[in-house]
Amino acid sequence: MRPRPLTATRGRASREGEPVDIGADDSSRHRCAPSPPQPVTMRAVTAHSVTATLRAMSLERPIVLAIETSCDDTACAIVDGAGRVLASSVSSQLAAHRPYGGVVPEIASREHLANWPAVASAALGPLGLAPADADLVAATRGPGLVGALLVGLSMGKALAYGLGKPFYGVHHLEGHLWSPFLATGGAPAAAPPGRFVALVVSGGHTAIYDVVDGAVTTLAETRDDAVGEVFDKLGKRLGLAYPQGPRVDELAERGDGAREPLPVPRVEGELFFSYSGLKSAAIRRLEALERAGLVVDPTDPPAPVLDLLAAFRAAAVAQLVSRLERLHRSRPFALLAVSGGVAANRLLRREITAWAADRGVDLRLVPLGYSGDNAAMIAFAALLRHRRGEPGDAFTVEAESRIPFG
Ligand code: ADP
Ligand code: MG
Repeated sequence: MRPRPLTATRGRASREGEPVDIGADDSSRHRCAPSPPQPVTMRAVTAHSVTATLRAMSLERPIVLAIETSCDDTACAIVDGAGRVLASSVSSQLAAHRPYGGVVPEIASREHLANWPAVASAALGPLGLAPADADLVAATRGPGLVGALLVGLSMGKALAYGLGKPFYGVHHLEGHLWSPFLATGGAPAAAPPGRFVALVVSGGHTAIYDVVDGAVTTLAETRDDAVGEVFDKLGKRLGLAYPQGPRVDELAERGDGAREPLPVPRVEGELFFSYSGLKSAAIRRLEALERAGLVVDPTDPPAPVLDLLAAFRAAAVAQLVSRLERLHRSRPFALLAVSGGVAANRLLRREITAWAADRGVDLRLVPLGYSGDNAAMIAFAALLRHRRGEPGDAFTVEAESRIPFG
């Protein structure tokens, strides 16, 4: 296996200024008008009272304040020196973008600005902390939408500069990669070993990395679509609302994937993923069902569609497991860390757990609360860099839509 350089993009917004497809009417995709004011709805807030936390355990320094605004989630988190997630708040902008059929970069940036005070208060308020209590400040620097990234990155840099604290500009994938070591319920993070293998599966990435003392090398990546992207695209074809992946997963639970399985592409020589063939095969089968007169109600799909979704999910997950198996056979590894939005997939969690138990691999599956985009993972990545003795980044660090990784 030859490690290959990777130019990473996040989500489906690789070209600046173009909306990211979120599954609504395509005809309106390129309109870019200001969105009406939206109430800030928190997708997730976890905050433990600092008094209660202090009573139960002693917090460790440094306290890290992190910001993530790389796409359409505005997120803030506070993590202590032991990697305890003291607070993590995430606000989604779906309502603001849905009328345009995609994430409109201009609107995403404005929404981040508008939502940040509420998101920051949701994280800091219950802890009774102020930004000045942070010892380190971190923010995602990319990859992602540059305008959206700039909001969080600029706020992070300004906070750190104003407070005289070190600043860490974190790669979004670096955040995902270490997230399986985070614990829930305010418990300390596990100490990552010196060497492990990481599988990152999300809407924009499908990759296996070799991690040695913090240095990351790509072992395999997708040659076409990312696995989360094909869940979303098939779900969109069915008429489901974005993000379709979790709903496809739910519906697949009710189907029988063994009735008519879909193939898993084999690899010879170099290790890689490929998902566009599976996407096309699943859509072709759906079209055949429709031609045969099947009416597909996305709120309650008929049994043949549930079977198709189950077959699709089984093939998608089997491809991930087959690559891990091949890698393990050629070069056994002791610990596997699985992260990214698709790591929430029920079948993936079951199959990878069974595979790892069978092979005696120590499996770290990202806790469900940290599988999608969040700032706790950004804080933890910064904390690990700090622990490795990295002093932080210069304030000249820039937001970038693509940043090589691994
Ligand atoms: P990115 O940062 O690359 O946009 P995230 O890490 O936020 O991606 O993950 C979002 C992706 O994860 C979406 O494609 C979404 O559909 C997918 N996803 C979330 N939950 C599930 C699930 N249970 N099954 C399959 N895909 C899922
Ligand atoms: Mg992500």
